[in-house]
Amino acid sequence: MEDNAEKVHSLIHLDLKGAPPRLGYFEQLFPILSSFGATGLLVEYEDMFPYHGKVAHIRAPHAYLPDDIIKLHTLATNNNLIVIPLVQTFGHFEFVLKHDENRAIREIERYPNALCPTHPDAFPLVSRIIAQVVELHPNDKFFHIGADEVWHIGKCPRCQNEMEVKKMSSSDLFLAWVFKVAWWMKKEYPNLTIIMWDDMMRNMPLDKLKSSRIGELVEPMVWQYQAKKFDLPADIFNRYSAVFDGIWVASAFKGATGSTQFLPPIQHHINNHLTWISVLSEYKHQFKIYRGIALTGWQRYDHYAVLCELLPVALPCLCLCLRVATRNSFTEADHDYVSQRLGFPHRVNLVPFPR
Ligand SMILES: [Zn+2]
Repeated sequence: MEDNAEKVHSLIHLDLKGAPPRLGYFEQLFPILSSFGATGLLVEYEDMFPYHGKVAHIRAPHAYLPDDIIKLHTLATNNNLIVIPLVQTFGHFEFVLKHDENRAIREIERYPNALCPTHPDAFPLVSRIIAQVVELHPNDKFFHIGADEVWHIGKCPRCQNEMEVKKMSSSDLFLAWVFKVAWWMKKEYPNLTIIMWDDMMRNMPLDKLKSSRIGELVEPMVWQYQAKKFDLPADIFNRYSAVFDGIWVASAFKGATGSTQFLPPIQHHINNHLTWISVLSEYKHQFKIYRGIALTGWQRYDHYAVLCELLPVALPCLCLCLRVATRNSFTEADHDYVSQRLGFPHRVNLVPFPR
């Protein structure tokens, strides 16, 4: 079974929108991730991807080169990690919309976060971006199209007119855009499984989700970073199980407890994973396919924000969380094991500094 379609994954999110590591760092990092049970990487390139041609302007000056993307794959493969590229296609689109070339495609002219789904240039732009990323990920099986936190939707006169003429709500407009992008991707790249963040669909009624046929095209990744009580609708997994074949979840090992955090509050993140384990034990049996978990590590809250905890100082937290995610519990023996493996002379402090 080279496909691993039913394999349950533990993905590590590499958020490259701030302080992106050099390839040499990945060379040291990937063996550690793999040895703690990670099975893949969810790589959010943002402006670090070597975009070229008509979208060369969205590439950062210090972006990776095409050879770096190939090398990243080689490093990942050598450590038994799959690679899943993540490219935003709706909200959190600042790295594209901040440029004057794309200003007209903003939903609200003053804000560069959300694109206007009815602008005639929106789809050619998004499909061009996706095509370039897929081209450098020729053998990867999954592609994440983001689509979380689209704060501005249905606000511009063109979208409002469209909604009025076609009797659409802003939820319909959201689903229509995601459908359009995912439909095109399925046609162009039939072997790709498309993933998206779930939050914009979280409160949509079952009928709406079903009639949109979105379940034929994408798999949701349900994110929740709280320590104890999750903020999810009670029937969310009933609805998602009735609509989607594959379901993913996402936790956090850093960048989720304060936009100016220096060190991750490790106990919080361990608790977040333990809560996911208990939620999954209650609902996972309903899923047709439980795909696995992505441990997110946010570098910034958005493209313009200050940096959160840096990746190196979050490694103890990441390894502890991976241990929890792969063992489904957290014992003193796990705490000792991870601390010793990372070379600490004592147990890693779970509350790194007094608040
Ligand atoms: Zn619009």
